[in-house]
Amino acid sequence: MAHDVVLIPGDGIGPEITQAMRRVVEATGVQINWNVQEAGAGVMDEFGTPLPQHVLDAVAETKVAIKGPITTPVGTGFRSVNVALRKHFDLYACVRPCLSQPGDGSRFRDVDLVIVRENTEDLYAGIEFDEGAAEVEELSQLVERSGQKTFAADSAISIKPISIAKSRRIVEYAFEYARRCGRKKVTAVHKANIMKATDGLFLRVAREVAANYPDIEFNDKIVDATCMGLVQNPNDFDVLVLPNLYGDIVSDLCAGLVGGLGMAPGSNIGADCAIFEATHGSAPDIAGQDIANPTAEILSAAMMLDHLGENDAANRIRAAVSTTLDEGEQVTGDVRRAQTGSVEGAVGTQAFADAV
Ligand code: NAD
Repeated sequence: MAHDVVLIPGDGIGPEITQAMRRVVEATGVQINWNVQEAGAGVMDEFGTPLPQHVLDAVAETKVAIKGPITTPVGTGFRSVNVALRKHFDLYACVRPCLSQPGDGSRFRDVDLVIVRENTEDLYAGIEFDEGAAEVEELSQLVERSGQKTFAADSAISIKPISIAKSRRIVEYAFEYARRCGRKKVTAVHKANIMKATDGLFLRVAREVAANYPDIEFNDKIVDATCMGLVQNPNDFDVLVLPNLYGDIVSDLCAGLVGGLGMAPGSNIGADCAIFEATHGSAPDIAGQDIANPTAEILSAAMMLDHLGENDAANRIRAAVSTTLDEGEQVTGDVRRAQTGSVEGAVGTQAFADAV
């Protein structure tokens, strides 16, 4: 049976790495009807939005999509298309496995952990007010009335909502994932010593949920100590469940444990829709040069094939990537440099895909 999948190439290195990914998926023999849809700055002029309705409709129809990264303007300009997609389809669980591969060039061995990041609330909710906005003055009066020390009048404000229902949903997802995948431990990551209301709520809910899973070990850790622990003893960790922003940051740290951003795949999972994408962004510094590492995107496709029930093809892709990296003959510059200290002898994005 052929599977219908929306493919959003994205921008920056997106078109190159999704082309490489598509080539590898097609080599497995699994039949995919690719519905290619464009989003991002490139479609702004034509449709007046970086995320046109027809793209949302296409994903709503197939319920499965894989995308390349999409650039988000920094500081000003349109809001993130990536965040908008996650919110629109309520893709509440961002799952990012970090697994060492022989040949990944990392200074760490045998890392095998999974980030489960809440994907819909926290400081990513996008509720923000610029300095000078009337709401900032109103909020300042509100804070004053509550008896708390208020903030400087020239502040900009971001609001961090963390709810009971969404915290419970993501922590339950992490425990169910742990059970399903034979994992032993879940660590809830927070900063509840400082953010007693929001992160305190997240931690309280995590403890309540953990009590329903006596077969899975549970602990919690403050986010800064977690970062140190991850770089010192990554093997102490198994499944980590985090609110949105910590999940974003810790994901990149963990990518660094397994060879870098070019190696770290991911998925955004909702109740009835899933979008697969690498952890990394659009890497404008290396775009259009055929030097980006497509491994993260290819491994994201393997996660997608698992989701589609094509586990054999997914396993073959993972094995082929692992063998190609281990042989070390045909790897991209980031891996080559990690392995040998120089990019000399590296191959391009498409040549790596051919080797896989
Ligand atoms: P980035 O992840 O794009 O790049 C960080 C560094 O890692 C760069 O040096 C880059 O060259 C390198 N890198 C990333 N992917 C690589 C790959 N596959 N192979 C080799 N090297 C790779 O982060 P950034 O530069 O901070 O962000 C660029 C843009 O991407 C921003 O607009 C950001 O908002 C966006 N972004 C999008 C997504 C997404 O689409 N889901 C995620 C993160 C960032």
